[in-house]
Amino acid sequence: MIVKKTPEQIDKMAAAGDILVRTLELVGGKIRPGVTTKELDQAAETFIRSQGAEPAFKGYRGFPGSICASPNSMVVHGIPGPYELERGDILSVDVGVVYDGWVADAARTFAVGSVSAVASKLLETTQGSLFAAVPACAPGNRLGDVSHTIQTHVEAEGLSIVRSLVGHGIGREMHEDPQIPNYGPPGRGPLLEPGMVLAIEPMVTAGRHQVRMADDHWSIFSQDGSLAAHFEFTIAVTAEGPRVLTPWHESAHATAA
Ligand code: MG
Repeated sequence: MIVKKTPEQIDKMAAAGDILVRTLELVGGKIRPGVTTKELDQAAETFIRSQGAEPAFKGYRGFPGSICASPNSMVVHGIPGPYELERGDILSVDVGVVYDGWVADAARTFAVGSVSAVASKLLETTQGSLFAAVPACAPGNRLGDVSHTIQTHVEAEGLSIVRSLVGHGIGREMHEDPQIPNYGPPGRGPLLEPGMVLAIEPMVTAGRHQVRMADDHWSIFSQDGSLAAHFEFTIAVTAEGPRVLTPWHESAHATAA
């Protein structure tokens, strides 16, 4: 069952989203060679708590971090730890924030200094597919229109959509109905109605779409070792159209290094 939110509740989710976006900006500003993912995690947690909010991921099914930090061929769910970033890495950072009982969820993949042409194209295309999905989150469309928009954008560039991981509804809970695949035919699935809030999160590899789980039972890697990227927005469907609750401006992602 898809739980719809009132305009007032969506405003509260946007307040969580604002803290989240500023957390991502803070983490992005700290990304450079030699920094560990644990240091990024601690900076994120300190900032989130300083805003009177809580990190949604910490303790979720036992997850130890406040962010997921997934370098290179890791797609999602990386546990922050001793890994030191290297020049030329890409790092996916996923953050969840709970504020006043409402959850926001967003992710973006950063480049550590200048990266390979393959990595650049992967980042640009994955972020582009998320931005392309925003207008599809309009009332009167169907969920499949969102999924199809992402798939079309990514596959046109010869990259692969991870199929076994999906986006989700979000609200008081981080994961609500519906599940949102990043591929599929248009014109299918639930009708989008004002009050639905969706976490749209394309996960894309530069190789094949299959993934594998690591021995830590959290980290998910591309099975073929190809680079992977992850971008995510929390988006509300409103009577006035799609409203991104975790907005940032499209950029090239390169960090000083
Ligand atoms: Mg999510």
